[in-house]
Amino acid sequence: MAKCEICNKNVHFGNNVSHSHRKSRKMWKPNVKSVRVKTEGGGTKKMNVCTACLRSGKVERA
Ligand SMILES: [Zn+2]
Repeated sequence: MAKCEICNKNVHFGNNVSHSHRKSRKMWKPNVKSVRVKTEGGGTKKMNVCTACLRSGKVERA
């Protein structure tokens, strides 16, 4: 998980910055769901797809 199989969106990194300006490493994860999608052959398969791809209709849900 944490990686979209359609657009290859993946985790990215940065800093958490506290009020006293101390910094610690932070990781952001994309909103990826495991969904059953329709394939060209008429079948279905399970894929990890980010919600942006689901919303924009890049995959058809089974
Ligand atoms: Zn995506």
